[in-house]
Amino acid sequence: MNIALLLEMAADTAPDRIALACDGRRWTYAQLLAAARGAGRVIADSGVDCVGLLDESSAASVIALFGAALAGVPYCPLNYRLADVDLATLAARIAPAVIIGDRGRVTRLDAEGGSIAFSRDDFVAAALAADAAEDAAAAAGDADIAVQLFTSGTTSAPKAAILRHAHLVSYILDTVEFGGADESDAALVSVPPYHVAGIAAVLSSIYAQRCIVMLPAFCPDAWLSLAAEEGVTNAFVVPTMLSRIVEAVEKGCRADPRRLRAIAYGGGKMPQELIVRALDRFPAVDFTNAYGLTETSSTIALLGPEDHRLAQKSSDPRVRGRLASVGRPLPSVEIEIRGEDGQAMPAGQAGEIFVRGPQVSGEYRERSALDADGWFPTRDAGYLDEQGYLFLSGRADDVIVRGGENISPGEIEDVLLTHPAIADAAAVAVPSVEWGEAIGVAIVVRPDCDAPQAEELKRLIRHRLRSSRVPDHVTFMDSLPYNEMGKLLRRELRERMAS
Ligand code: ATP
Repeated sequence: MNIALLLEMAADTAPDRIALACDGRRWTYAQLLAAARGAGRVIADSGVDCVGLLDESSAASVIALFGAALAGVPYCPLNYRLADVDLATLAARIAPAVIIGDRGRVTRLDAEGGSIAFSRDDFVAAALAADAAEDAAAAAGDADIAVQLFTSGTTSAPKAAILRHAHLVSYILDTVEFGGADESDAALVSVPPYHVAGIAAVLSSIYAQRCIVMLPAFCPDAWLSLAAEEGVTNAFVVPTMLSRIVEAVEKGCRADPRRLRAIAYGGGKMPQELIVRALDRFPAVDFTNAYGLTETSSTIALLGPEDHRLAQKSSDPRVRGRLASVGRPLPSVEIEIRGEDGQAMPAGQAGEIFVRGPQVSGEYRERSALDADGWFPTRDAGYLDEQGYLFLSGRADDVIVRGGENISPGEIEDVLLTHPAIADAAAVAVPSVEWGEAIGVAIVVRPDCDAPQAEELKRLIRHRLRSSRVPDHVTFMDSLPYNEMGKLLRRELRERMAS
């Protein structure tokens, strides 16, 4: 099954419903499908191997996603925020391609290996003027590549992860009800198009027959105003976005998104204090924590609204503690925790998280990371509790190995963040002759507070954890480096701390 079939099915049953509101224009499902079919013809006639997007979210990005599927070539949105030199490397890796984007950006790259550049508007105009491509049933199928995404590169150089049509379609069919939305339901998409969450948000909204409301560049006031104006009902945000939205509401932002009833969040660790504030600020909203990876077609485990509500009301620390969990695996997904020797761990014991299921690709352009039984090593560490709730404790690659002892940065960071003067904190490995790796912590002090003494912080860690967790180096910084998805760039921080 081809992902374009999801759009064809929606356009068949609800041709006149609004599918997309973007750049001041509204597209019905029938219009969006016609544009996607025209785009499929433009792409097929270009004879390229790929469709690259070098742009923010727009109608063109949605049309290109389905157009590429109808032309039977992979869709590859690139992180347009990268430096020109990195972008040129990625663009060369997907050439020859149709590359769509903001005029300034594409002209900087259009000489790459036979690629053909289109500005966003020219691409849409060409699609609308072209004959229709064949339908999805005649185009690429299950085993063909639908999307190629370069991972964020927070832990290593970006890898070209591949998602085949079957992976994305399985994910949508297993999680979204066909036509499940009401006529006036609208989903606000504010994550960048080159992240798997952006792709998943578009596909699931189309299949449910919601209207996609695009916010190309996130800013909390614009998010709240657009949500209010467009009667947004559903949204996905990363934790840093939620933090800024809650802050804007607390500072008295007047926009009232009163139709909002569901917010899913994920992509990075949600601080417990933040979700508690969000639950208080938006009492009518159902919150869901969604845990997933690029290589798994996005979400593999969910902590649903009911668990959020129970945790919010309960005084039982075990139930309240659920807010620190990413919930239970989706019905068609299996999760196993494995120890260093590769053995499955019992409930309560931490190890590396492995995942298996029809939506799990685990494949890169160069190799597959699946083992012989189809399990994918996520490189995340965590444990399942007795009730099957998954708790993350950090990423395997972030573990600090100090004198042979494995130390998860998360445990140190959680304690540091309880200090009233600390706004943000991160622990990373720094090279050490004595220990191999030593513990370096970077601290951001709250604007209205005095910096605590390094000795005080060391005492705090010694008191709450144990002496092997006491930082060897404490550095104060104005801010920590994050990417636009709110992920801490640990590799960059390690380099800064080591120099
Ligand atoms: P790279 O592999 O290049 O470092 P990346 O891992 O950041 O890039 P993504 O696939 O975007 O690329 O991110 C997946 C990771 O994000 C997961 O492995 C996990 O560590 C983190 N993550 C995703 N969802 C959640 C969530 N709900 N809570 C906590 N962490 C999450």
